[in-house]
Amino acid sequence: MTTHDITLVSGHGGMPAPEGVLTLKHLIDGAWVSSTSGETFERSSPATGQLVSQAAKGTAQDVEAAVRAARAAFDDGRWSETPGSARAKALSRMAELIDANCERLALYETMESGKPISQAEAEIQGAADIWRYAATLAWNIRGDSQNALGPDMLGMVLKEPIGVVSIITPWNFPFLIASQKLPFALAAGCTAVVKPSELTSATTVMMGELLIEAGIPPGVVNIVLGYGDPVGGLMTTHPDVDMVSFTGSTAVGKAIVAATSKTLKKVSLELGGKNPQVIFPDADLDQAADAIVFGVYFNAGECCNSGSRIIVHEDVADALNEKVVALSRKVPFGDPLNRTTKVGAIISTDHQSKIDNYVKGAAEDGAEVLLGGAPVSVEGLAGQFYQPTVVAGVTANMAIATEEVFGPVLSVLTFSTFDEAVALANGAAYGLSAGVWSENVHTCLAFARKAQAGTVWTNTWMDGFPELPFGGVKESGLGRELGPNGIDEFLEVKTVQMRIGKTRQTWV
Ligand code: NDP
Repeated sequence: MTTHDITLVSGHGGMPAPEGVLTLKHLIDGAWVSSTSGETFERSSPATGQLVSQAAKGTAQDVEAAVRAARAAFDDGRWSETPGSARAKALSRMAELIDANCERLALYETMESGKPISQAEAEIQGAADIWRYAATLAWNIRGDSQNALGPDMLGMVLKEPIGVVSIITPWNFPFLIASQKLPFALAAGCTAVVKPSELTSATTVMMGELLIEAGIPPGVVNIVLGYGDPVGGLMTTHPDVDMVSFTGSTAVGKAIVAATSKTLKKVSLELGGKNPQVIFPDADLDQAADAIVFGVYFNAGECCNSGSRIIVHEDVADALNEKVVALSRKVPFGDPLNRTTKVGAIISTDHQSKIDNYVKGAAEDGAEVLLGGAPVSVEGLAGQFYQPTVVAGVTANMAIATEEVFGPVLSVLTFSTFDEAVALANGAAYGLSAGVWSENVHTCLAFARKAQAGTVWTNTWMDGFPELPFGGVKESGLGRELGPNGIDEFLEVKTVQMRIGKTRQTWV
């Protein structure tokens, strides 16, 4: 089997790259400002090398100013005391504006991240729906009451916005991930300081422009561009920040927990995954193979939900591998601006090396690379691309079986009994998502009950809905985004106890 027989797409196929370089500034207290140091950093397309944006490089003073603005905006009630119905209207307006600006947002998402343009458009549309859904939650913030405390006492439980939230996002789904956090924080009445990854600042800045147009008051959403050090770091330690909502690597997630412990902020974390899909012998192998190929190559595997770990029954392993390899050869990899492309560029050369090292390491440890296993050039493009890669004969002790590769690389392990499959599936430190393939509903449900994961898919992979909560267990995170839980994360519970009449005896 040759490793080079894959489907590469070159040529834009009609979608022109934008001309000129975007200038990106911080949004602080309603104004677009340069960095206090005057410094900037640049981002070039990972697919073509074309310079896309030049952004203000945030300093500690910039973070100070942004937190001050968010604190003042929260404390004076300009947003937190606005009725939920009014907040809902602003969030709904935002959803309309996202839809109206979908093409431009998707283009810059593609230019900075290297993801295919058709996928970027779908993500922006999906994000608009999340804003729409979060608006419905703003209408409906309610607590509880306790009226069995005796005739002279009534207890009320209020839900109030937690305060100033630091939102820190990664490069893999810049607009979508910010949209899994910010609209819920705003629906709750919080104010925010947002920091995108320095690799993908553009669409978060555009989000800021649209928020102003949607009528969100100055200071309610502030955006500081730049690096984890010092921007992200200070956003997690600043005493005026009440909560940190973070998506990214487990390593940085742990560092954030340590940093926030000094001021005991609430933390919500959406971290990595090493998501297993277990394929039982009675599964529909064609359906499973199609979902596996989607699950591992979607967003070039740079996805916390990547279905990167296949655990297949030994009786059907060869048949499944053959189908997966055949489909992998057909997946159109290449120019992200071409509408036929399904998998684009790798985010950076460093990241490409990390992916390659995992594959080489597995091969040295005795695994078999059935397809791919190396970077690949795409004609006319200067950026970095990695071949669709299938690695079989993986065993549980290999790094590729337990660590997040974050690339278009599938690891295949085998099992013989249900218990062995469950043990392998739960064998990683992560617990984000898991999947099961079987025509027997009992097998699916038994696995779903045993899987240590925030989400379990049965006979499908990576469906997602704004209405359903999303998040991980174990080292995949803390808390939940989306669904009704999405707003609860940003609400604090307050108990109010009210005496009725003057029935209490004096204490002394
Ligand atoms: P990181 O977790 O390093 O970064 C995510 C965000 O956190 C970025 O905005 C980053 O800033 C910021 N950040 C970095 N250090 C700190 C800190 N000490 N305090 C506060 N904020 C900080 O992810 P990377 O983008 O560097 O990717 C590294 C690896 O993480 C990937 O190879 C992948 O394995 C994994 N990853 C997982 C994701 C997921 O969805 N689970 C998403 C992205 C990555 P900046 O990068 O701008 O300096």
